[in-house]
Amino acid sequence: MRVVVTRTTWEKVARKLSPKTDVKPEAVYEDLNVSEIDPTRDFEVNCDTQLVTVKDGTQLPTIAAFRLLAAQLKRLGHNNPILLKDCLEFSPAPLEPKIALLRAAAVIGSLLADGIGDAILVRGEAGAGQSLRLTYNILQAAGCRSFKTDYVACPSCGRTLFNLQTVTGHIKARTEHLKGVKIAIMGCIVNGPGEMADADFGYVGGAPGKINLYVGKTAVKFNIPETEAVDRLVDLIREHGKWTEPEGKPADATDAAAVPA
Ligand code: SF4
Repeated sequence: MRVVVTRTTWEKVARKLSPKTDVKPEAVYEDLNVSEIDPTRDFEVNCDTQLVTVKDGTQLPTIAAFRLLAAQLKRLGHNNPILLKDCLEFSPAPLEPKIALLRAAAVIGSLLADGIGDAILVRGEAGAGQSLRLTYNILQAAGCRSFKTDYVACPSCGRTLFNLQTVTGHIKARTEHLKGVKIAIMGCIVNGPGEMADADFGYVGGAPGKINLYVGKTAVKFNIPETEAVDRLVDLIREHGKWTEPEGKPADATDAAAVPA
C-alpha cells in the first residue's frame, strides 16, 4: 500500500525527512500520470498496470464512487491498481483539522476495509506534516502498514485489577519506539484474553496486584507482582526477538514530529 502526496505537500516535507524515517511518501501525485476515471460513464483502460483513480467532480459520494470504479474494473476484466483519495473536490480553503481527519479516516478506512485500494492520497488536511501523519495513521489503523507500536486496551470496568491509564502510560513510555509490535493491556482475565484480537503480547490483570503476561493468546507468565510486570513484559518482548533499543527519542516522536505542519 503506497503513500502518495501532492507536489505542494512534498515540497514542504521533503527537506525535513530523515533518511531513516518510515513515514516517507513513495510518490508525488503530479508525477504519476494517474488515469482519472468517472465510473458513472463508460470508460476504457489500456493496460492493467495503469494506476487509476476516480476523477475529481464525479457526482457520487466518494466511497460510492470508488466502490463503483472497483466494480466496473472487475466487470471489464481489469485488475488495475487504484489510488484512493479522501475527497473528490479539492478545495483550496482548508478544512478544520478534525473534519479533515474524520473524513479521510471514514472514506479511506472504509475502502481499505472493503479490500479496495493500492495507494492513498490525502488532500483535505492542509498541514503538510499533519497530512502525512494522518495518511500513515490510517494505514496503520487499517492494518496495511506498520510504522509504530500498536496498543489495544480495554475500556476498564468494575473488574479492572489495576490503574489502566497509568499502566498503559508506563508501557507506552517503554515500548513506543518498537515498530510492528502490537501490545494488549487488559484489566482482567475474565474477558481480557478473548478481546486481545491479534496482539503479539498481552499484559492482563490476573488478581489484585498480580499480572499475567501473554504471547499472542497464550498465557506464559502468571501472578507477576505489578511493580515488576512492565519490566517482565519488556523481557518477554526481548526473548521473542521483537525488542530494539530506543534511539534517543521514541520513533513516532522522531519521525512524525520532524515532519512540518
Ligand atoms: S477486559 Fe475485563 S476489566 Fe477490561 S473491560 Fe473487559 S471485563 Fe472489564
